[in-house]
Amino acid sequence: MQGEKYLFVVSGPSGTGKDTVVSQLLKKHPEVHKTVSATTRAMREGETNGVSYYFLTKDQFRSELEAGGIVEHTCYCENYYGTLRSEVERYMMEQTPVILVIEVEGAGNIKRLYPDSTTIFVLPPDMKELEHRLRCRGTESEEVIEKRLRRAETEIALSADYDEHVVNDVVDTCADQIYSIIQDRLVRD
Ligand code: ADP
Ligand code: 5GP
Repeated sequence: MQGEKYLFVVSGPSGTGKDTVVSQLLKKHPEVHKTVSATTRAMREGETNGVSYYFLTKDQFRSELEAGGIVEHTCYCENYYGTLRSEVERYMMEQTPVILVIEVEGAGNIKRLYPDSTTIFVLPPDMKELEHRLRCRGTESEEVIEKRLRRAETEIALSADYDEHVVNDVVDTCADQIYSIIQDRLVRD
């Protein structure tokens, strides 16, 4: 489909710093955008509906799925998350680079649907640091942290399938590396 090369999928274990790095990149390069996904999880403090996510009930999510408005979705730690067709198609049509920050199953589905997109895996410096970041963020219960850490091992095992890999040691450096990947891709057909 035309415009696929403008799609950049950023994945990696929860707590690795994807949102922090992507926010930094968007701040420095306002020509790059980020899709807003739909989710059924509860809103965290500081999040805004329509900006962080579209926060939907499970029924609303199911209706959107049935109507074909969601191109890929997954159940992650008991909540649904999905990429909205309207978001992806808008940026492909506008030929504007856009980042999708999604987990590994969704990343694989986006790559299958849009083979000319670029998948980027963000690794933590090591597992101890990942656990530290997840705990320091302080947004999840102990039970959810444990689930996310278990899932992280499976996710890292799938990272070999990605087009690009970056390590989030220093936020700014990692954001610059992702921006270089975007620039390199946009000059190719
Ligand atoms: P993710 O989006 O991958 O789940 P976040 O962006 O929410 O991760 O980051 C998780 C926590 O780690 C946050 O508290 C964030 O401030 C912190 N963090 C992110 N990147 C770094 C880094 N390079 N060094 C130290 N702490 C970081
Ligand atoms: P969080 O609850 O921390 O915001 O997100 C949990 C996980 O869901 C993260 O790995 C995040 O990248 C992923 N995620 C967010 N939106 C989507 C989406 O639209 N599709 C998929 N597959 N995963 C998503």
